Amino acid sequence: MLCITEWRSAVRNQGLLPALDALLKRAVADPHNALCHIQRELCFQDAPRCAERILCDTTRPLEGVPLLIKDNLAQAGCPLTCASRVLFGYVSPFTATCVQRAKDAGALIVGRTNMDEFAMGSSGEHSSYGPTRNPLDPDRVPGGSSSGSAAAVAAGLVPVALGSDTGGSIRQPAACCNLTGFKPGYGKISRSGLCAFASSLDCVGLLATCVDDIALVYHSIAGPDPADPTSLLPETQAESSAPRKAIVLADTLALCEPDFADAFRQCLRLLADAGWELLECCGPDCDQALSAYLVLATAEASTNLARYDGVRYGLRAEEPEDDFAGMIRRSRGRGFGTEVRRRILLGTALLAHGYAPGYYQRALHLRERLKADYAALFAQAPLLLSPTMPALPFRLGERLEDPQRMYRADLLTVGASLAGLPAISLPTVPLRVPFRLSLQLMSARGREDTLLAAAKEVEKLFS
Ligand code: GLN
Repeated sequence: MLCITEWRSAVRNQGLLPALDALLKRAVADPHNALCHIQRELCFQDAPRCAERILCDTTRPLEGVPLLIKDNLAQAGCPLTCASRVLFGYVSPFTATCVQRAKDAGALIVGRTNMDEFAMGSSGEHSSYGPTRNPLDPDRVPGGSSSGSAAAVAAGLVPVALGSDTGGSIRQPAACCNLTGFKPGYGKISRSGLCAFASSLDCVGLLATCVDDIALVYHSIAGPDPADPTSLLPETQAESSAPRKAIVLADTLALCEPDFADAFRQCLRLLADAGWELLECCGPDCDQALSAYLVLATAEASTNLARYDGVRYGLRAEEPEDDFAGMIRRSRGRGFGTEVRRRILLGTALLAHGYAPGYYQRALHLRERLKADYAALFAQAPLLLSPTMPALPFRLGERLEDPQRMYRADLLTVGASLAGLPAISLPTVPLRVPFRLSLQLMSARGREDTLLAAAKEVEKLFS
């Protein structure tokens, strides 16, 4: 795996253009199906200017750093498909704010990563480009939905990739690939140019090999944006020193595979030995959170995905006998994959007249209760700890026919999403070779810097 410091030393040794050329050759030969589009020409358009700046030492924070972006982030003039047939042939007319900011900071966008269609999935298998494989064990999934971003970083193609996290899609694949995955609080990185899945939950975030790289890229792209009315002003934080006090969400262990408990206990012992004060508490009910997430996410998705009608974007499927409604039906029927169709149908049913109070409104109510539960916990300690994933990454195909089991991969990550909290996942003690147990740290809203400082401490302990 590659971190930004290693990339920079490769650039110093070989020069930016040869290093980039080698990277792009490896990307073309990638056996994990992590990428769906490589932008060689675009990347080489910007690279010579970066190379000059590097030589003159007038560098911007991400000067010459190669980044991959998930296929649901817009970049002007580039294809954007969300790994869906419904968007094949679509080219973005503008650039997402986060991508533009990364470019303005000097990053080179080398390509786009495979993903679960419209970010719906936990395995990378729901993609019209075919499944992505886990570089740590090619028979297993890399997690999802930011499957390609995780696999590309784990395969050492790039040091950092942008992803999106609606219910765990950065943290869960990070955990599957022994990576660090960070979802800031809702509104911290602009969503302008991110294809909407569930707008009240969607966050842009990062996958990398270390906390420093996450922090560097995060600070280059976060901040308010007039194009996203839900983006937030930066908080003035009193201190960003690493806290060493945390609540362990003890009841999450009962939801994990048996050998997770031993590894998690070992991890806690090492933290305690390093001087951490750990309090064990019960957190919000994860099963309830998952149900609320599925109701809200599918309801919002059914609305957001109504725009793919064959009229304005991407695929239009038509037969001579089709009237206007028939064309829309056929375009959507051919364009969307099974999981996306399932979610649209489910979301539409949940919002139907007479059903909304029992499902949608109840889920909103649960979400408010969850936020209150977290607030009560944060009154006692600045951090919450749990495993990120309840199980090892499963084998390809193992859960494809069983959506309920697939959804359970998100059991421990949806809480932070529903409450809009910042959360980070990072690998700790060995679990079952080659996989390590990933720890999820959550902090209160606006405490991203505190969270990153704490994650750095944890990283030092386990690296
Ligand atoms: N795996 C979850 C789902 O399928 C989360 C997806 C995401 O965060 N985009 O809904």
